[in-house]
Amino acid sequence: MNLMYKSTRGSSELITASEAIIKGMAEDGGLYIPVKIPRINTPLHKIMDFSYCKLANYILKEFLTDFSEDEISECIKKAYSNNFNSEEIVEVKKEGDEFFLELYHGPTLAFKDMALSLLPHLLKTALNKHKITKEIVILTATSGDTGKAALEGFKNIDKTKIIVFYPEKGVSEIQKRQMTTQEGNNVYVTSIEGNFDDAQRGVKEIFNDSKYSEFLDKHNYILSSANSINIGRLVPQIVYYFYTYLSLLKKGEIKNNEKINIVVPTGNFGNILAAYYASEMGLPVNKFICASNENNVLSDFIRTGVYDTHRKFMITASPSMDILVSSNLERLNYYLSGRDEEVITKLMKKLSLDGKYEITQGMKNGLKDFHAGFATDKETYESIKEVYNKFNYVIDTHTAVAYSVYKKYKEKSDDNTKTIIVSTASPFKFTRNVCDSISVGTDGFDDFELINELSKHTGLKVPYSIVELKNKEIIYKNVSNKENMKNVINDFLKV
Ligand SMILES: *Cc1c(COP(=O)(O)O)cnc(C)c1O
Repeated sequence: MNLMYKSTRGSSELITASEAIIKGMAEDGGLYIPVKIPRINTPLHKIMDFSYCKLANYILKEFLTDFSEDEISECIKKAYSNNFNSEEIVEVKKEGDEFFLELYHGPTLAFKDMALSLLPHLLKTALNKHKITKEIVILTATSGDTGKAALEGFKNIDKTKIIVFYPEKGVSEIQKRQMTTQEGNNVYVTSIEGNFDDAQRGVKEIFNDSKYSEFLDKHNYILSSANSINIGRLVPQIVYYFYTYLSLLKKGEIKNNEKINIVVPTGNFGNILAAYYASEMGLPVNKFICASNENNVLSDFIRTGVYDTHRKFMITASPSMDILVSSNLERLNYYLSGRDEEVITKLMKKLSLDGKYEITQGMKNGLKDFHAGFATDKETYESIKEVYNKFNYVIDTHTAVAYSVYKKYKEKSDDNTKTIIVSTASPFKFTRNVCDSISVGTDGFDDFELINELSKHTGLKVPYSIVELKNKEIIYKNVSNKENMKNVINDFLKV
C-alpha cells in the first residue's frame, strides 16, 4: 500500500509521493505531508555500517512508496556519486565537546545541495511515471543558497526549466556571482527589488493563481517548486540526521539509544523540520535547538507561541536566514495541533491577513522539546573567532549563529547531552565576514581575492567549484520589479 500525501489545510485529495513532488504545493495553499510518518523499526546499531547512499535508499523508500527501489537508487546515485567533494557526502567533525555536521561538501557549498542534487532526478522520474510530456517550470525564490543549488541541480535536465528570483540586496557577493554566471540551456536568473520575503510571496502567489496555471498549461508548461515547501526536499534532509547519529554510534561517541541535541541555524524551517521528522521516525533526540539571526521571528515564536511578522526585516551576516515568513513552520504547527487541518487553515489565514497569529496552549505544550535563541551579527563574528582560536576550525556565519545560540543555552541549562551543530555553509561563501572575524586583513581585497587570503591564512583548501568564479562570464544582469514576476516568466518561456 502506498503512503499517501495530503495538504496541511486538508481540502485537497490524497495523492502519492510522486504526485506531491510534481505539484510542489497543494491547491489550497497548504503543504503536502505524508498521512503517517514512517518509523524505522530496525535497531539503529544494525544499520550502523550503511554508507550514506545506502542509508538514503533505506529512508527514502519509506516515504516514496510509489517509486521502485531501482528508481530510488538510480536517483541517489546520480545525485551523490560524482558531485560531492567528500567521499562520505557529509562529514562530522568533533571540535572540543561538540560535533559539527558539515553539510556543505556539495557543488554549491551549502546544505541545500543535500536535497537539491536529488530533487531533479526524483522529479524527472515522477514525470516519466505519470507519462507527463509537458515541461516542468521550476520557480524558486532564494535567500542565496537555494537558488544556486537548484540551478546546479536542474541545469540541462530534460523537460525542465528553472527560474530563480533572488533579492537584489541581501545575498553575499559570492552567492550572487555563483548565480549570475550559471550555465545551462534551461535556466534563467534575475534579482528582484525587495527582500527574500517579497520574492517568496511573489512565487507563492503565482503558484496559487489558478488562471495563470491554466494559461501555462495551454502552452504545455506545469509550474513546480524547488523551495523547501516541496516534500521532495524535505525527505532527503532526514537522511543526514540518521547518518550522523549512526556515525557517532560507530565511533563510540554515543551509546545505543542515547539522546542527542541538534542545533540548526534556521530560516525557512526546513532543515530543523527534517530533524523533527527523523525523531518521529525513531531517532533519539533530546532537544531541537532553533537558532535564528536578528530576524528572530522563529525564536520568539518558539519561546512565546506568538508568530509576529510585524518587525523590521534585517539584512544580516547570515543572509540565507534573513526570512520573516518561514514556510515550513506550517508543517510543524500541523503536528502540534494534533493534525487539525481547520486550525492550520485559520492560523494561515490570520497570518496572511494580520501578519500575526498565536497558537493555543495545547500547541505550545508541544514545543517543549524545542529550545530557541538568536544571535546578533556581533555574536556571530565572536563565535567564528572563538571557534577558530580554540579549535583552529573555521565556520561560516550561519553555523556561527548556531554555535552562539548553543553556547548561551549550555551556560544557562547545564544540559550535557551530546550535541550536533549543523554546519550549513562553507566559510568560503562568506569570505569577508569570516576573514574579518578571524583577523585576516580584508582591506583592498574584493570578496573573490579573499577566497585565496582565507585559504592562505587558515590552510584550508579552496573548494574546486569557486576557484574559477571570479573569471566566469556574468550572464544575468537583470533586476526585475517584484510586481512583474509573471512577465519575467512569460518572457523566458516565450508565451
Ligand atoms: C537555507 C539555509 C539555512 C536555513 O535553512 P532552512 O531550512 O531554511 O531553515 C541556513 N544556513 C544556510 C547556509 C542556508 O543556505
